[in-house]
Amino acid sequence: MILVVLGNAALILIMWARHGQFPHLTNPASVMIALGQLSALLGTYSALVQVVLMSRSPWVDGLFEIDRIAGWHRWLGFATVNLIVAHVILTTAGYALADGRSIAAQTSVFLTSYPFMLMAYVGAALFVLIAVVSVRAARRRLSHESWHLVHFLVYLAIALSFAHQLAAGTDFVHDSLALGYWVSLYAVATALVVAFRIVAPARMAARHRLRVDAIVEEASDVISIYIKGRALAELPVRAGQFFKFRFLAGGLWWQVHPFSLSAAPNGEYLRITVKEVGDFTRSLHRLRPGTRVVLEGPFGVFTAVRRRRPRALLIAGGIGVTPLRALIEEMPQRKNSITLLYRASSWEDVVFKAELDQLVAARGGVVHYIVGRRGHEVGIHPLAPRFLIAAAPDLRERDVFICGPREMVDTVMSSLRALKVPAGQVHVERFAFLT
Ligand SMILES: Cc1cc2nc3c(=O)[nH]c(=O)nc-3n(C[C@H](O)[C@H](O)[C@H](O)COP(=O)(O)OP(=O)(O)OC[C@H]3O[C@@H](n4cnc5c(N)ncnc54)[C@H](O)[C@@H]3O)c2cc1C
Repeated sequence: MILVVLGNAALILIMWARHGQFPHLTNPASVMIALGQLSALLGTYSALVQVVLMSRSPWVDGLFEIDRIAGWHRWLGFATVNLIVAHVILTTAGYALADGRSIAAQTSVFLTSYPFMLMAYVGAALFVLIAVVSVRAARRRLSHESWHLVHFLVYLAIALSFAHQLAAGTDFVHDSLALGYWVSLYAVATALVVAFRIVAPARMAARHRLRVDAIVEEASDVISIYIKGRALAELPVRAGQFFKFRFLAGGLWWQVHPFSLSAAPNGEYLRITVKEVGDFTRSLHRLRPGTRVVLEGPFGVFTAVRRRRPRALLIAGGIGVTPLRALIEEMPQRKNSITLLYRASSWEDVVFKAELDQLVAARGGVVHYIVGRRGHEVGIHPLAPRFLIAAAPDLRERDVFICGPREMVDTVMSSLRALKVPAGQVHVERFAFLT
């Protein structure tokens, strides 16, 4: 997969060079124009790679941890916007310099004399908007839904810039081979999105006819939703994975949110356990049995398939216990095979206590509940290296599965690095924003 991505980037560089850029690099204007073209090609390619990364294709999601995909997505996202902004600036400045015009006059020439240019400018502006809301500080203030909606604008931005590339892009106007290659990159990205974000969920809905069966209160702000349907045993899902859920009820049907299974798949029902943090999760309390459910997924490689060692240390933060609770069911019933550290702000926030105690005891393991508000632990973080090693002295010989909010996961990861736990034994799920 990585080789395919890098191979195509190399092809694009060759295509750019083949179109005779080097002999023209004799003055500042032509250097700017050539670099403007290159940044357009690479920026658009990077946007298409992101569409593929987020297409929910099993060829991507089955290979990499969601965390890693999200990291690449973030990095490539900012690279895309920088390259597209560079394209606009370099191309405008290059032509303005070559033709002796002001930047404003050159922009006006582009808009009035070149086809589809207004659409392209709107596309570039949308990319900048998406980058602005993706900056971490801005993102924290957004609801999941607003974040999701803004991200959908990426498809619009990519579509808006497509026509001007074909009509005005010097790489494509006179080279039908390059044109065919470029269009095929768009076609592959579009096909993956349609297949895995639209067709697959529709087929799954028709096949399994999922409905809410029951809602059970686990804590004052946490509920479990039991979902039943046809042929559930055929769903190719494993403990530790998550789906994106759409509940077909008034006011909810247009939203889709990710939730991990909180019980291992058993062919009879799916269970998710949801903590109230905002509008959507609050309104799930009002769901009625019988409500139709549409799923996208399953996603993620946070599963027992990743295990390398016979024993495991599981570390949960708050509601991040859900996939770990499911995973424990798939762990072997062997003495001392599991240690679970469960971090929660208060005892009211601890869910599944009875289930966890019983499942872990059945595997000869131990659960450590670390309860208390963040910052109340006089100077020492309860997930600092010395506490982890005290809880599991054979830590380096264990797989470590971590799930929780971003900050907690970051703390645990730095403790594990300090303890020199091999990276291949560390498996992470962050309950972080996904597109
Ligand atoms: C892979 C994955 C699995 C998940 N599994 C579970 C689960 O099993 N149980 C569960 O209760 N939750 C789970 N979540 C989190 C859940 O998806 C969000 O809490 C939910 O979408 C919030 O929707 P809302 O409209 O109620 O809240 P919003 O109004 O969207 O958000 C309320 C507040 O929480 C913040 N917030 C919301 N969602 C996120 C997020 N994903 N990342 C960072 N900050 C966020 C917002 O910035 C806002 O401040 C999971 C998330 C991911 C990515």
